[in-house]
Amino acid sequence: MEKHILLVDDSPTIRSSVSLCLQNEGYRVTEAKDGKDALQKLQFLKDKDQSLALIITDINMPEMDGITFISKVKETELKFLPILVLTTEAEEFMIEKGRVAGASGWLLKPFQPEQLLWAIKKIVWSK
Ligand SMILES: [Mg+2]
Repeated sequence: MEKHILLVDDSPTIRSSVSLCLQNEGYRVTEAKDGKDALQKLQFLKDKDQSLALIITDINMPEMDGITFISKVKETELKFLPILVLTTEAEEFMIEKGRVAGASGWLLKPFQPEQLLWAIKKIVWSK
């Protein structure tokens, strides 16, 4: 069955390039432009009874940043859903904040398609 991924990033360019990369590998992708939008998309998918295999999120976004978004997801029934961070943030303290909030992995932009797909496979298919 096709795996469904929620992709959260405020950059339309990143969203389209990552989406394309994932779709080419057979993943289904729903996009959101920030944490707030992503929470709405999660509610929408829940209402439609659609389950997700993974969330990929940026950190620096308007409205709601990635760390806050991860914390919010962890307060819901989706707390066991893996969340992979894809960001330009390489600071150790920020990575630690992400880990504490509940991120499953941390990848740096510019994204390398092979590396991203490998990380996703490892997370999504190991369950
Ligand atoms: Mg950003």
